[in-house]
Amino acid sequence: MAERDFEIIIIGAGPAGLTAGLYTARSKLNVVCYEKLAPGGEILNTEHVEDYPGFELVGGQELAAKFADHAMKFGLKIEMEEVTEVKKDGDDFIVTTDMGVRRCGAVIYTPGGYPKKLGIPGEEKYAGKGVSYCALCDGAFFQDEVITVIGGGNSAVEEGQFLTKYGTKVYIIHRRDQFRAHAVLVDKIRENPKVEIITDYVPEEVIGDDREMKKLRIRNVKTDETQEIDATGLFVFIGFIPNTDLIKDHVEKDDAGFILTDQNMETNVPGLFVAGDCRSQLIRQITNASGDATTAAVAAEKYLEAQEEAKKAAAAAS
Ligand code: NAP
Repeated sequence: MAERDFEIIIIGAGPAGLTAGLYTARSKLNVVCYEKLAPGGEILNTEHVEDYPGFELVGGQELAAKFADHAMKFGLKIEMEEVTEVKKDGDDFIVTTDMGVRRCGAVIYTPGGYPKKLGIPGEEKYAGKGVSYCALCDGAFFQDEVITVIGGGNSAVEEGQFLTKYGTKVYIIHRRDQFRAHAVLVDKIRENPKVEIITDYVPEEVIGDDREMKKLRIRNVKTDETQEIDATGLFVFIGFIPNTDLIKDHVEKDDAGFILTDQNMETNVPGLFVAGDCRSQLIRQITNASGDATTAAVAAEKYLEAQEEAKKAAAAAS
């Protein structure tokens, strides 16, 4: 068997990957973290974080930078490479990136996911011309304009609140009258004079001219009545698709496509650990991504130790 390049390869440098990197590097393991974009993951798209213990209020980008700096301080190598394949080869994993092929003993898979699309006419045509999935990235483009937001989860309500910094009016459009978002967030947004909440409606079509979005047509799910809102912005926050493609053939998943693990964050494939937003779990927060990644890091180290012990025992017996 060829030499291992690393003991552990971490795939994805969001809060989970960077926490796993911090713990494994601090344990003096030979570890690398591959990231195709910038370290930070989804928190790069979050303006303010106020539920990460010890930080009453911190910017998402600032927190991402702190995570990365902290892990690198203990020796984590973060390489900007896109992983294209993960394969098991005996006791090893072979991880292929756009820059090369590396062999390791365990993989900690933390690539997060991406936002769901509505799939309505005009959504694709006006993407970047009114339609967005990231308030922090694009909100400032909608200064003094009318903005629509779709969804009834925490993201829609939080991002809708954020968008009132820019829009003259923000419509939160939700397909039923009960919100998935925390009650405290819903209560807060109801008090915002710039916000109008429209329930029992779904978006039907994004309408515009050659250059940009001009209106959103919505339909009442109970009466089928439609109306058009004069709005130049549509922000879609209707959920999240986990990035599981790289290991889709190897692992067991739940009905929604999130990866199942045991309490050590290990999948049904020995040596393949998962933490963060692509894991099947009740909530997707920075705190539990970090906590689960800590478990994954320690469990991966113990897995490698057990593998070494077994090899030594086998060699001694032969
Ligand atoms: P989410 O909680 O799954 O909410 C998605 C929302 O979009 C739901 O209200 C859903 O309606 C609606 N929806 C789904 N498909 C739709 C469609 N095709 N058309 C119209 N509406 C549709 O997703 P999320 O808000 O992105 O949050 C993801 C996870 O991150 C959650 O666990 C959330 O708690 C967490 N999060 C937490 C915070 C925080 O605590 N500060 C902030 C952001 C996100 P139904 O309710 O009818 O299904």
